[in-house]
Amino acid sequence: MERTLAVIATLVACRGSQPAAPAHTAYDPMPTVIAGAFPPDRGPDGNSVVLRAPRGLIVVDTGRHPAHQDKLLAFAHAVGAPIAAIVNTHWHLDHTGGNARLRAVYPGAEIVATRAVEGALVGFFPNGRAQGDALIASGKATPQQIEDIRLGRAAVDDTRNLLPTRPIARTGAVDIAGRPLELHVAPFAATEADLWIYDAATQTVIAGDLVVAEVPFFDSGCPQGWRAALGEIAATPFVRLIPGHGEPMTRDAFARWRAAFDALLDCAASTADGATCVAGWRTGAAGFIPAGDEARIDEYTTYYVTEILRSPAAHERFCHPLRAE
Ligand SMILES: [Zn+2]
Repeated sequence: MERTLAVIATLVACRGSQPAAPAHTAYDPMPTVIAGAFPPDRGPDGNSVVLRAPRGLIVVDTGRHPAHQDKLLAFAHAVGAPIAAIVNTHWHLDHTGGNARLRAVYPGAEIVATRAVEGALVGFFPNGRAQGDALIASGKATPQQIEDIRLGRAAVDDTRNLLPTRPIARTGAVDIAGRPLELHVAPFAATEADLWIYDAATQTVIAGDLVVAEVPFFDSGCPQGWRAALGEIAATPFVRLIPGHGEPMTRDAFARWRAAFDALLDCAASTADGATCVAGWRTGAAGFIPAGDEARIDEYTTYYVTEILRSPAAHERFCHPLRAE
């Protein structure tokens, strides 16, 4: 709250008749995390990170549900600054589903992302849509599942708010809304081309789903590319890392999480029983799995070990550009 008030004071001061201070000193550089929820009966919302910039706010990832976007819009309203840019770390709908709602209020907000979503629109979303339609037709979907399916369908149909207005093809320094940031492109990691951010001003990594505290969401993941991306993150001099889901991490916490990730991949590549790999993740990632959530995380890990990490077809599919199936 103190920080918010300081920003409001700064913004008010800037409207006076004094000559403007250099732009890079006129905002609080520290990121604000709007945490994503992961309730048991719904799909998750990814974490959003809001960065102040000379020309407004940069919102990294926009969540899936309207309740999450309400928090983002309330924050922008509270600090009295427009949302000038959206950065999507990857195309999963728990990170991009809110783009349309934010741009309905701030139509000038650019979308900064890689073009990997183009492959998802022909090679991943159509499958998901067919599965969602089948679940609704079966009569077995819960009201929450039906709502999530409908939200997803609306987001996928609205390609204008999913495709980047400013496509990022490679790692490099960029200026977004007047704020310098380092954008890193990780090929074939959690998705075909994940974007992660290093903010040198605050020594912060915004990792997107390259780091998911509870369990790496391997739904469209390529194991070896993902492992390499974590090595690149470790090579930056960050002091705080904001994951796609879960609490911010110190360097030590990230190192522990990364060791558990590597051990999971090593186990899956060995002849060990699948249950051994699942138990290994639970032990290695102790402290990252919220109390009471162990059984659900075991289900996720079992699915990823069986259907992705030990599936040559999944490697073929997700370690190459997505295409129509
Ligand atoms: Zn996510």
